[in-house]
Amino acid sequence: MNICMVGTGYVGLVTGAGLADLGMNVICVDKDASKISALAQGVIPIYEPGLEELVARNERKGRLRFTTDLVSGIQNAIAIFIAVGTPPKADGSPDLSFVREVAEAVADHMNDYKVVVTKSTVPTGTGKMIEEIIRTRNGKWPFSIVSNPEFLREGSAVGDFLEPDRIVIGASDAKAIEIMKEIYKPLFLRETPFVITDVASAELIKYASNGFLAVKISFINEIARLCELMGASVEDVATGMGLDPRIGPRFLLPGPGFGGSCFPKDTAAAADLSRQNGYVFELIEATIRVNAATKSRMIEKIRGAVGTLAGTTAAVLGLSFKPETDDIRESPALAVVGDLLAAGVRVRAFDPAAMENARALYPQLTYAKDAYDCAAGADFLVLATEWNEFRALDLERLGSALKCKAMIDLRNVYDPGEMHQAGWKYTSVGRP
Ligand code: NAD
Repeated sequence: MNICMVGTGYVGLVTGAGLADLGMNVICVDKDASKISALAQGVIPIYEPGLEELVARNERKGRLRFTTDLVSGIQNAIAIFIAVGTPPKADGSPDLSFVREVAEAVADHMNDYKVVVTKSTVPTGTGKMIEEIIRTRNGKWPFSIVSNPEFLREGSAVGDFLEPDRIVIGASDAKAIEIMKEIYKPLFLRETPFVITDVASAELIKYASNGFLAVKISFINEIARLCELMGASVEDVATGMGLDPRIGPRFLLPGPGFGGSCFPKDTAAAADLSRQNGYVFELIEATIRVNAATKSRMIEKIRGAVGTLAGTTAAVLGLSFKPETDDIRESPALAVVGDLLAAGVRVRAFDPAAMENARALYPQLTYAKDAYDCAAGADFLVLATEWNEFRALDLERLGSALKCKAMIDLRNVYDPGEMHQAGWKYTSVGRP
């Protein structure tokens, strides 16, 4: 089956290459010509473990191609997946202009029956909007509308695509459901659960899932704050809570607040969507406030550990919003960097993959070649993103590179007892 994937970013590239791996003929389209020419030369424009191999394997088999030519992409495919960005506008609502652009192109250039599949995260009602655009501009050809939200996580996106927890398909008619089942047949045969529903419910499943996860993170961040105030250990509290199967142990790690391109954007969009429909989603709005407060509390934690900040030098380890990605969108680590700079601190930084992206936003930082180089001559160290390579640092070497053996560990990577034993002034999140 021929598929056109419009948008070749974190989601479109992984999904396009993943669908090719499932046996589809996929043409990936992006309007960013530099991205497409890099991909055509085998250069993957993002850092995502396993992606280079997945793309190369499917290009070799002739099932995966890259182009900027949206018209031929639309005309040669039966299913057109929309995987373009839906970034937040100033009022929190998602900018759907890229989605609209693609819907208009489909309407103007379709040459047969098409299934138009939304992979981008969009508010409930977007499927209807796409349907109206196509119907208004092109009354001639039949088409179906599908919502097929994506749940992959950056950093483990390839595995998440090939072994998903579930596939959600919201469709306007039975023909589209059959085509979607055919596309995902190899996953169906591997007993992946399928949720087949209407378009509006599928669209809402994505916001409900990300909203719930954001609530869980904010909940444990508030428990961590309580632990700090009362001398309890958030790790033990989380273990004790997580053993209840109704709660579960995952996503109970406290830290500097959630970030990335999804949770902040999707919680804001869910709050906006509710208000647009005359309802205030109190829990989500509180979660957004708790997250903002959690992020801004980190500089106070650092000040509490270090004292006067102006004129000092910080070593910051980790800049991406989570490990195993170069994505810095809404990164809590960069929020900390911004607060340090505002407090008059010079910042030395190191990240295994995100320094190029960070440099564009913060050219004034000193970018180091590794963790030890980053620590060299700094007054204290902030561990901001828990990359694996920061989990087993040579602490003696690190300590002797710093002016003072002070670590503020915003990801609870190290053991407080062992750190104090080794002579570190050590502060973490929610642990005595
Ligand atoms: P991205 O910014 O990495 O990629 C979007 C791509 O779309 C860009 O390369 C851009 O050039 C391209 N594009 C925009 N308009 C276009 C057009 N008219 N024609 C062709 N290409 C066009 O975004 P992303 O992180 O891949 O996210 C895409 C969508 O998937 C968003 O709605 C996001 O919320 C959702 N999502 C993201 C993740 C994630 O982890 N990143 C996970 C699940 C869902």
